Amino acid sequence: DEARERYLARNPLSLARWLEAVTVMPGGNTRTVLHYAPFPLAMARAEGCRLWDADGHEYVDFLGDYTAGLYGHAHPVIRAAIDRALEGGISLGASNMDEARFARAVCERFGLQRVRFTNSGTEANLLAISLGRIFTRRSKVMAFNGAYHGAVFGFAGGGSPMNLPIETVLAPYNESERTRALITEDLALVIVEPMIGSGGCIPARPDFLAMLRQETARVGALLVFDEVMTSRLAPGGLQSAVGVKPDLTTLGKYVGGGMSFGAFGGRGEIMDRFDPRRRDALPHAGTFNNNVLTMAAGLAGLTEVYTPEAALALNASGDALRDRLNAACRAADAPLQFTGLGSMLAVHATPDPVTTPEAAAAANPKLKELFFFDMLAQGIWLARRGMMTLSLPIDDAACDALVAAVEEFLSARQS
Ligand code: PLP
Repeated sequence: DEARERYLARNPLSLARWLEAVTVMPGGNTRTVLHYAPFPLAMARAEGCRLWDADGHEYVDFLGDYTAGLYGHAHPVIRAAIDRALEGGISLGASNMDEARFARAVCERFGLQRVRFTNSGTEANLLAISLGRIFTRRSKVMAFNGAYHGAVFGFAGGGSPMNLPIETVLAPYNESERTRALITEDLALVIVEPMIGSGGCIPARPDFLAMLRQETARVGALLVFDEVMTSRLAPGGLQSAVGVKPDLTTLGKYVGGGMSFGAFGGRGEIMDRFDPRRRDALPHAGTFNNNVLTMAAGLAGLTEVYTPEAALALNASGDALRDRLNAACRAADAPLQFTGLGSMLAVHATPDPVTTPEAAAAANPKLKELFFFDMLAQGIWLARRGMMTLSLPIDDAACDALVAAVEEFLSARQS
């Protein structure tokens, strides 16, 4: 309550903005994940890895827009690419000069034979799932409890009333034997995050993913990896690090250079159902699929900035940071831990291992709430649910600031 009082007193302009927003948007919100009680901060400006809110407070940006902000704010290379694209006109109503270059960069990077672009990760999953059902001539889709594949594919707590009416088999993440028993010959596909992202940065066990590969192949179902968040975790996506090759992969977030983006791709034999030269071609128009700004920003980002070497370095920093944070929690004997891989982290208020969404759900919500508001008061921006990601401008000083803030939180709790 004290933390809440302090928050209210500190953020009058964020509150005023929110009170206005409530009159024209449900709950003042157009992106559910950004809402939290009593009202969310509004950010006014950002540069590099720093953000300034409506009331002028400065934050180190450890949210990195839920992985979409990998390049940081106003990255000069991305800006130059967008400026160049703007000069040439942005709604050409035609194929443009960057889309095939960008497609080639994405295919080479993530080991895809063919790719198509969309406007969001949600759409990429919609298309991949529809394609998989048509390709296999089967209707049933397996997804995992605790997974998130977009607004119409949310499986936390057993599913969402928003989910599309697709016959879904919900399987337990990271539980190989129970899942294996559910993989039957009437499945069109299995869609899985190789690390559950927004559900709490819970990595899949490599043998779990290998089992999915083996069993889907056995029953003739497709394996779809949702790498919308995880493609940043290794040069060729998380799949390249675990050595399991799906039939289709979906992408999003930072791959569009910070612009609206999604993509799905994989085996040519499957993807070529979209070849418009075919008599039975599947339709996938989409006004902004090849939008000039995304194509330019994404291409520059992937080829000039987030190179394979940069990916290795960023994720090594993330691993080192997670180790420091967990060491601080252990030293304070606190029921707090940081899960994840590489540049993606999530805080969980439990001392027990978090290897399943059920284990994450068993944590202490009150302590996590306190942690969140304490971090804001100390100038650290993160997700209300505890997710953090590293962006390229996050440097040693930023990491030190986070570790110091966490140590301060832990020692205040002890005293
Ligand atoms: N898939 C995963 C794993 C995600 O984390 C998200 C978004 O958080 C999506 C899909 C949906 O992407 P978008 O928000 O671009 O529609």
